Amino acid sequence: MNSKIPVTVLGATGVVGQRFVRRLASHPLFKIQYLAASERSSGKRYFEACAWRLEGEPYGGFGPRVMVPGEPDQAFSPVVFSALDSGPASELEPQFAKAGALVFSNASAFRMAREVPLLIPEVNPEHLGLIELQRRHHGWKGAILCNPNCTATVLAMALAPLEKTFGIEAVMMTSMQAVSGAGYPGVASLDILGNVVPFIRNEEEKVEEEIPKLLGLLGPEGIELAKLGVSALCHRVPVLEGHTEAVSVKLKGSPTPDQVREAMRSWRPEPQALNLPSAPAVPIHLHLTEDRPQVRRDVEVDGGMSVHVGRVRACPLFGIKFSLLGHNTERGAAGGSILNAELAHAKGLLG
Ligand code: NAP
Repeated sequence: MNSKIPVTVLGATGVVGQRFVRRLASHPLFKIQYLAASERSSGKRYFEACAWRLEGEPYGGFGPRVMVPGEPDQAFSPVVFSALDSGPASELEPQFAKAGALVFSNASAFRMAREVPLLIPEVNPEHLGLIELQRRHHGWKGAILCNPNCTATVLAMALAPLEKTFGIEAVMMTSMQAVSGAGYPGVASLDILGNVVPFIRNEEEKVEEEIPKLLGLLGPEGIELAKLGVSALCHRVPVLEGHTEAVSVKLKGSPTPDQVREAMRSWRPEPQALNLPSAPAVPIHLHLTEDRPQVRRDVEVDGGMSVHVGRVRACPLFGIKFSLLGHNTERGAAGGSILNAELAHAKGLLG
């Protein structure tokens, strides 16, 4: 008997949607029931609607599957993974939640809503508790659970053990972000090859507002934002997958680089303790050689689910600085959402 939980993928044709399909094709808990995207794709077979761009089995083996309209009366499953753009997400995700689905969203539409968890299982698993507030607030049986912006996700993974061990006063982060972060076709090749673009619309704002929510504590009225200053400077660079971040951080008690490394090395958060299927054994890989992490050498380790920290050293202005790398479309998108669903399952929220 196959007791896997049926799931729907919304936005299945896109950059993130394809990664959902590839991961879910062999997932131990979930099985794909419906694939949906826009009206342009509806009624077509997946291989006709989607230009598959990933390694491995084309279309994750779902090429012949007929795509359905992304509406609850035609695509309902108890678990919905949404790789929709923010516009359609703001309309469709509440409809699925109202119909009783747990919607794991990649879009920015509801991330900062008071009653919506902005979830990274290693960082803030207790934020799942917001679901009760959300259900009371809307009268829904289902709920929307968001994963953060991909740049914020990678940063929060490195900051979480530092907040827990020392407390953070201020962070300054300069990113070098992959083109896949802009979806497909994304940035025109003539604009990005041999170039660095010092602007990604709304990216700096998202990082600056999401980090205090991610590191905040669950209270009776929602999340009490963490009290730290965050400044983000975001750049697009000619890299396919993987966001690199140069981070300076002011910590309480002025710990040494060795103490910071030890806090990261000894961090054993909940997904690793629960042995969730998509959780990497080690959430932060600490590099000690002076020229790592590097995108081409490190980003695909653990299927892109761990982050990489290197060059932890003294900063004359903030106290500590380091280099950080994480996979934007895996940890920062599809893999992160699936890990959120695995946590919800482990906590008994999927029935
Ligand atoms: P994308 O490649 O442009 O894919 C967008 C998907 O949305 C496609 O499947 C498209 O279907 C579907 N869609 C567009 N309009 C629609 C509509 N009106 N109704 C239903 N479906 C519609 O974008 P992406 O990079 O995968 O990003 C998807 C979401 O994830 C966005 O919210 C993005 O901000 C977020 N995100 C992306 C990354 C990343 O690194 N790329 C990281 C974190 C979060 P058709 O093929 O039928 O047009």
